Amino acid sequence: MPDRGCSHLNAILSIKPADRECAECMKIGAQWVHLRTCQQCGVTLCCDSSPNRHASKHAHTAAHPVIASAQPGERWLYCYPDDVFAEY
Ligand SMILES: [Zn+2]
Ligand SMILES: [Zn+2]
Ligand SMILES: [Zn+2]
Repeated sequence: MPDRGCSHLNAILSIKPADRECAECMKIGAQWVHLRTCQQCGVTLCCDSSPNRHASKHAHTAAHPVIASAQPGERWLYCYPDDVFAEY
């Protein structure tokens, strides 16, 4: 298995499927820019360019370290605690 740069990323064996909407923005009728999928619980949330930054908030409050881009054609993972990107 390739070394992706941290233990959290190295522990990812398969990428969870992405939704097409931010679960939290849908509840409050907010807009988002890009989507990210939590690789611990599978929820899809919005990126840091979005007004509500739900993916970041979720990573911190739930202590789920790794997200994957949910954008079509993007294949990368990001670990919040280690600030490491890895393509897959
Ligand atoms: Zn990590
Ligand atoms: Zn959101
Ligand atoms: Zn999560």
